[in-house]
Amino acid sequence: MSSSEELFNKAKQFIPGGVNSPVRACNSVESTPLLIKKGSGSHIFSEEGEEYIDYVMSWGPLILGHTHPEVTREVHNAVDQGSSFGAPCSQEIQLAESIRQAVPSIEKVRIVNSGTEATMSALRVARAHTGKNKVLKFIGCYHGHVDNLLAQAGSGVATLAIPGTPGVPEETAKQTLLAPYNDNDAVEAIFEQHGDEIAAIIVEPVAGNMGMVPPRSEFLQKLRETSNKYGSLLIFDEVISGFRISFGGAQEYYNVTPDLTCLGKIIGGGFSVGAFGGRSDIMDHLAPCGSVYQSGTLAGNPVAMTAGLTTLNLLSKSDYQSLANDTREFAQELSEILASKGVPIRLNCLGSLFSLFFTSEEVTDFDSAQKTDLNLFKKFYNQMRKQGIYLPPSNFECIFTSFVHTRKDFEQTLEAAKKVEF
Ligand SMILES: *Cc1c(COP(=O)(O)O)cnc(C)c1O
Repeated sequence: MSSSEELFNKAKQFIPGGVNSPVRACNSVESTPLLIKKGSGSHIFSEEGEEYIDYVMSWGPLILGHTHPEVTREVHNAVDQGSSFGAPCSQEIQLAESIRQAVPSIEKVRIVNSGTEATMSALRVARAHTGKNKVLKFIGCYHGHVDNLLAQAGSGVATLAIPGTPGVPEETAKQTLLAPYNDNDAVEAIFEQHGDEIAAIIVEPVAGNMGMVPPRSEFLQKLRETSNKYGSLLIFDEVISGFRISFGGAQEYYNVTPDLTCLGKIIGGGFSVGAFGGRSDIMDHLAPCGSVYQSGTLAGNPVAMTAGLTTLNLLSKSDYQSLANDTREFAQELSEILASKGVPIRLNCLGSLFSLFFTSEEVTDFDSAQKTDLNLFKKFYNQMRKQGIYLPPSNFECIFTSFVHTRKDFEQTLEAAKKVEF
């Protein structure tokens, strides 16, 4: 048996930085990654066989936990029938129908392989529909590594302090306009100047990539009004919030209807799935109905569709309110324990997402999130990990709970937090 460290050193010889997604490298907490061998419910096991309570949950997809028995069984059955045919299958139609039922603003949906593909394709169809080129995004929101959505993209980009976006042509970057999250005045000002050029506003209706930052009341509603006024589309990137903030996503929770929605993470039940959808008149621009090209060799394959479909079926019967209540109670206890040690703490919590920022100021946007003391976070992260608590290795990522985290998991986590020294 190799240790995580041995394997990671080997990985660095063949894979840039040893990882296939940058935050995993644990650079910002001055640590190295654990290599994970298996998961069960809310727990994961490293290559060394050590057990951890998992608050990453694959960065969101696993709201039903690792190796959920029903999802695993259905996926096994699907694999036995063949992995992909490059032809339509009944499972993709069922998943599309389930998505539409849960999220009524999605009249038609196209299934892709990742969240990045979903946002990239949603923007393309938005441009084609409006005949405009620019997009307004919010500083600290992440929409996948799409060229012109990487500007000020929070999360991994913030964690690594990569200043610009090398490799993205300047002309492409210029098509992106930036406003602070939760700042409708800034949005209005940008529209006054560029209103006739903006194809779409894209926003995480609950921001999850600068840590968790909820929208202020009216923020989303006002975006809806501004985009209507100027004939731009409103795109909700619900790759994290979809099927998490509530079954119908943040748009159901806040009762604001976007023109297009991007989904990912949970809808794949742990497999590679993304989707974008919305009004039929917009979605019908896509080939073969219309002339906007978009495609995918493995898109809609029966194995991933089965995982997603089984997950959504289970979630439709799940009690989101009690998950939110349990998470809030736990997050509050955790923040009180840390506060009692004399460090500044701000808790943002909604549904099964929360963030603990090491600052005394309210966190409402990227600037205020940046006030967090990363040195304190690093101490917190590393001491928790030593005690078997696996947190996201960045203060700008959400802490994820799930339907399978138990009160016992939470108690064990709180006990570990009590022992942290700053
Ligand atoms: C994770 C994420 C994406 C990108 O999804 P991938 O599947 O990693 O490409 C897009 N938008 C948001 C809000 C995300 O959190």
